[in-house]
Amino acid sequence: MAGCAECGVRAEAQDRMAVEIRDLACFGRPARLRWCKRRWRCVDPDCEAKTWTEASPHVSSRTVLTRRAGWEACRQVGANARPVAGLARELGVTWSTVMDAVAEHGTPLVDDPDRVGVVTSLGVDETAFLKADRTHPTRYATGLVDLHARIVIDMVEGQRGR
Ligand SMILES: [Zn+2]
Repeated sequence: MAGCAECGVRAEAQDRMAVEIRDLACFGRPARLRWCKRRWRCVDPDCEAKTWTEASPHVSSRTVLTRRAGWEACRQVGANARPVAGLARELGVTWSTVMDAVAEHGTPLVDDPDRVGVVTSLGVDETAFLKADRTHPTRYATGLVDLHARIVIDMVEGQRGR
């Protein structure tokens, strides 16, 4: 049983729609979960809600991966430096699906100010990351490193002193 989030009246079950979600690989093969999501309808004809489908805390509405598969993909890329393409093959999804999961789960970790803490010794180094060709000059990135903790704090585009 479900209630309408807009008006609070008891909702009526309308139908189900099947969606396929990718989960962690199982026995070395990509795993698919088939979820028959319930679609609910508000019985009040004046309500704005009309219909909606059920949600799960285990599945983000924006991706085809379960949250645990997304987290694991992020951990493998971030902590173990595994290539995104390899994880995409393992999970049976596209490169961009894995990269989206890395961004979704990894951005809050990178943005956490407690990740770095107090830096007493800062290393700054420029790197040419894209050589010049007919369409653009050489592009540089500048890395900021905590020399004591030996972690990369950030990468910024360009080579200017600022
Ligand atoms: Zn309603």
